[in-house]
Amino acid sequence: MNEAIHSSDAADSGSPAGATYPDLEALRARAASLNVEFAALDADARIQRAFELFGDALIATTSFGRDAALLLHHLQRLNIPVRVFFMDTGFHFPETLAYRDTLTKQWKLRVQTVESDNLGRRQYEVIENGKNGPETHITNIDACCGINKVEVQRKFLALPDVSAFMSGLRRDQADTRKETPFVMVQRGKIKFMPFADWPSEQVDLYLRLWEVPEHPLAAQGYTSIGCSPVTCTRPPVDGDARSGRWANEAKTECGIHLDKEI
Ligand code: SF4
Repeated sequence: MNEAIHSSDAADSGSPAGATYPDLEALRARAASLNVEFAALDADARIQRAFELFGDALIATTSFGRDAALLLHHLQRLNIPVRVFFMDTGFHFPETLAYRDTLTKQWKLRVQTVESDNLGRRQYEVIENGKNGPETHITNIDACCGINKVEVQRKFLALPDVSAFMSGLRRDQADTRKETPFVMVQRGKIKFMPFADWPSEQVDLYLRLWEVPEHPLAAQGYTSIGCSPVTCTRPPVDGDARSGRWANEAKTECGIHLDKEI
């Protein structure tokens, strides 16, 4: 099932950008306690415990990128029927959308595709002539991510039936992620990262052992797959898995994994 909803469908009653959340300190204390508990569990048990705690108020988030199947396959294998939110920025590779459809159908996932309804969502897109023909560039990557990712995420996290979310974030993906806990608070919701301590070798082994379908661009050498403009995703260099993301720019994160607005 793949249901498309727009960001304006989300409750506008959620906390606005930059707002403080009620009982935030109590929520952070709860997350800290859960973080200690989760450190002693394996990934299966972390996911099962998160669902036991929050039930249908727990959602999963995914980009349907290179490692997306790790979390999604666990949900399917463990029979955890949570809603899966996918942000369609409007700039994804066609292969990513096809991969979404393949996994959704094969594993009967409850995918909800969410996108910005901002009329200026493509205002930073320009087409330029490149070495191999026309290339799409983004002239202001922070603003574009702000509209098409951060704002969309903020709205669906504000939905009244969402209390917690799960992400496949891992510590060895980037320097900015090396302190990733198993549980934290982001935008007033509990965030679970059951694979925080999984190295990439363990991810690859899991996906091979379970013969999980691979993202179509993985065979072309892409190790981290975001949006398709050349500004945003290129093949990696020097063995650094995320070096192709916003290459030649200072930017390393789109903002959806940071507990602040950009
Ligand atoms: S990754 Fe690139 S195209 Fe995608 S939202 Fe961010 S700036 Fe825009």
